[in-house]
Amino acid sequence: MRDNRPSKPGGKPSGVASPPPSNFIRTTIEADLQAGRHEGRRWAGHPGVAAVHRQAPLDPAAIRTRFPPEPNGYLHIGHAKSICLNFGLARDYGGRCHMRFDDTNPEKEEQEYVDAIVNAVRWLGFGWKDEHEDNLYFASDYFDAFYEMAEWLVTAGHAYVDSQSAEEMRMNPGTLTEPGRNSPFRDRPADESLRLLREMRDGRHAEGTQVLRAKIDMASPNLNMRDPALYRIRFAEHHRSGDRWCIYPMYDYAHPIEDALENITHSICTLEFEDHRPLYDWLLERLAEGGFFDKPLPQQIEFARLNPTYLVTSKRKLRELVATGLVDGWDDPRMPTLAGLRRRGYTPESIRRFCDGSGVSKANSWIDIGALEQALRDDLDDKAPRAVAVLDPLKLIIDNWPVGLEDECEAPVHPKQPERGKRRFPIGGELWIEREDFAEEPPKGFFRLYPGNRVRLRYGYVIECTGCDKDADGRVTAVHANYLPDSKSGTPGADVYKVKGNLHWVSAAHALEAEVRLFDRLYREAQPEAEGRDHKDAMNPDSKRVVRAMLEPTLAGALPEDRFQFERHGYFVADRVDSKPGAPVFNRAVTLKDSWGGGKR
Ligand code: ATP
Ligand code: MG
Repeated sequence: MRDNRPSKPGGKPSGVASPPPSNFIRTTIEADLQAGRHEGRRWAGHPGVAAVHRQAPLDPAAIRTRFPPEPNGYLHIGHAKSICLNFGLARDYGGRCHMRFDDTNPEKEEQEYVDAIVNAVRWLGFGWKDEHEDNLYFASDYFDAFYEMAEWLVTAGHAYVDSQSAEEMRMNPGTLTEPGRNSPFRDRPADESLRLLREMRDGRHAEGTQVLRAKIDMASPNLNMRDPALYRIRFAEHHRSGDRWCIYPMYDYAHPIEDALENITHSICTLEFEDHRPLYDWLLERLAEGGFFDKPLPQQIEFARLNPTYLVTSKRKLRELVATGLVDGWDDPRMPTLAGLRRRGYTPESIRRFCDGSGVSKANSWIDIGALEQALRDDLDDKAPRAVAVLDPLKLIIDNWPVGLEDECEAPVHPKQPERGKRRFPIGGELWIEREDFAEEPPKGFFRLYPGNRVRLRYGYVIECTGCDKDADGRVTAVHANYLPDSKSGTPGADVYKVKGNLHWVSAAHALEAEVRLFDRLYREAQPEAEGRDHKDAMNPDSKRVVRAMLEPTLAGALPEDRFQFERHGYFVADRVDSKPGAPVFNRAVTLKDSWGGGKR
């Protein structure tokens, strides 16, 4: 029954090729497994209180973790870290990871976000369903359980209804050095609190007039333990429960109960919850005394958030960018959302590699966004077929090209994988080259095209530049050259000519004209919010540029989300929204080299 769990710490995790690097969370889990701490737990196949699980078979999962987003926005790269961690641990230790919507806060939550989150987690490569279990949960399904436990806490003397105004309550919590003041309602009889709690539930009190509070210790050095609020009144429509409830549980109350109902063994969260752990434990201990839960209780473990440079990871701030039109929606390819990264051309593998490689730590720090970009290059270098794109086209006329001559060149689909075959594309008397590849008066060290110089047309012929045409403003409108007919790449004559420049090109008569979107980082500053700055003031005004490019004709067959390396320009993806077969639109996912870190800009 429990055969897929490692019997000893260090036992080979199932389904991974090489064991991932250890970290303090893995060490904790391994110690728990070795001590048999979670053995004997039972699992009814769905969440429930102890009475539900007690009669059920042993839990087939060695550990249970969960990923618990609030559906109030799209997931971002920081969430990816939590997803990789929680689902990864469950996978590696014979456990299960639950997908749980922490939707106890009625005001900001929407079905659109639920759908987007489900899509993002699946896209990243994780699932919560197998032939035995479907671990997709909504905390709002536990509203009855939360409430029942609240009544018990009141009855048992662990909670009371405080009838102070919000204003009065704000005066009382004390400071780090001074204890708080007890509420005058703290010692009201349990019966009276219970009656008030029921009246709150029944909608008989106005918002802000009554609050259910835990009765812990107003002198605790930990502010979270000074009689924290458990339930508040909100006459708000909930995206799933509608107007069935007008009281809603606080996060600190709901979260440990959600974990316990779901048999979570290791509840992994970010560092800012460290000071909340005593409350998490206090609540579950009380509820275990009340018979709601059996031991061992879930254990909260905190780790440092992922903080990549040059972006912000806060749903609230990302929502602000969307709402103010500073970006074109949640899936704008410049956004650090998973929907945006996907549209930008990121692969799930590259994001997982970045998250797993960023380590698990107890100390907050910044991680260079260049590491994410490099993870994508590393992934796509092997996978992406090569293609040619001229992003800033300038006409090249080969004056000695015989009228009517049709010729073809060939190039490898992937230079390091000959088994992937060749691609063929036509060459003719008029080509497109990059404007920057020609200089009428070459700067020092310029190896490309200038009058009198010879270069090779990549995969084609050697040409010699003879001059250029200009318009009235002096802007070059076309370049002229002659080609050397016996110099074609792949023929015996090719090696006779030694040239330094090697230009990419596409045949003007055959080129596929397409929109290409060139993206750069959304923020100019590595830490967009440093020194109390508003992140919107640190935005990069040149983060998006749209060009009409001339592409290798084979790209007409690109399907949405097909990825390519455009030689010299970087990795590109056919936009999953706007690209159509035959009429592709490409996004640049990443350049071939880091142009920020190297100071070359
Ligand atoms: P936001 O401020 O963006 O809304 P949050 O932490 O409030 O973030 P939740 O939806 O509550 O967002 O997060 C779901 C899970 O993802 C939580 O367990 C949270 O700790 C984790 N998480 C969120 N941001 C990060 C991050 N930058 N790094 C690691 N984990 C994160
Ligand atoms: Mg949140």
